[in-house]
Amino acid sequence: MGTSMSHQGQTNKIVEELFKDYYSTSGNLELPFDMELREFAIQPLYAQGYIRHMSFHSESELLNFLRSRVPAHLFYSSAKYQLPDAKDVERKGWMGADLLFDIDADHLCEVREVKFCPICGSMTVSQKCEKDGSETSVYQEMGEECIKEGAKHAYVLEDILRHDFGMEPKVYFSGNRGFHVQVECFGECALLGPEERKEIVDYVSGDGVPDYKGSPEDPGWVGRKARGEGGVILDRQVTIDVKRLIRIPNSLHGKSGLLVKRTDPRSFTPRVSELSPFKGYVSFRPFLTINTKLFDVEVSMERGKNMILQSSLGVLLHLKGLGEILAHVG
Ligand SMILES: [Zn+2]
Repeated sequence: MGTSMSHQGQTNKIVEELFKDYYSTSGNLELPFDMELREFAIQPLYAQGYIRHMSFHSESELLNFLRSRVPAHLFYSSAKYQLPDAKDVERKGWMGADLLFDIDADHLCEVREVKFCPICGSMTVSQKCEKDGSETSVYQEMGEECIKEGAKHAYVLEDILRHDFGMEPKVYFSGNRGFHVQVECFGECALLGPEERKEIVDYVSGDGVPDYKGSPEDPGWVGRKARGEGGVILDRQVTIDVKRLIRIPNSLHGKSGLLVKRTDPRSFTPRVSELSPFKGYVSFRPFLTINTKLFDVEVSMERGKNMILQSSLGVLLHLKGLGEILAHVG
């Protein structure tokens, strides 16, 4: 799990309320039409571990549960099961699975990492603070350029699935630093095994593409190479695995407070204020002094100087472990 969990583990009542409020409204979540065949799982906010093997028959039943256990992360299974809530995976009765792809932008570019002590604010390179022995936090910067690089790969992937495979993929911003591409599968597609899914991964990765000089109009990889497109870099295991958890579209990502959102990768611009459902302002206490760029926002913070920030940005910085939210200020 995350390296900076120790500090994020401290409950912030304001953030908890914001998450809870978001899940108290119906119609936000994009749920599969066959939700009764899916396993649901959450990782509760400010807690370690998962609650798995749950099954719900309607959105209201799910939301009722989420009001009692506010989730940091909310998932359903890519697989459909006869008994989705069976604890023993063998007893679930696998009936097929959607096709999933995961593009992680931090594998595509250099990401600045800052290690610091959340107690005294000093930068360090070790696990424990030299001054007070506290466990250090690691902050990874994710700027606009990097996430846009991810969007480029998502676009090529979408194009391949559509034109070379005749599928109808949907692209989602993951809520943190990547993209999920999902194909709802029925019939043969749902029953593809790991070996066949691996062949699809090999194809979209551009593995074994013949070095043949074609023209940009040629179909498949010959045309793609001529148009200067490269293979898609993705987490291969996510696609190969036929029992995976999918982040629920329009749920919140617990490491950012941003929404998992359907997007057109050709025009995606990562704007914090648009990707967050949180309105109004919060007062924020920085743990350290740093200049950083998160998505489209440049932030300069100074330890010891509290700031008034838009709630969307305040929650994001808090969940990245950079400071504490003190109050809602309208
Ligand atoms: Zn310290």
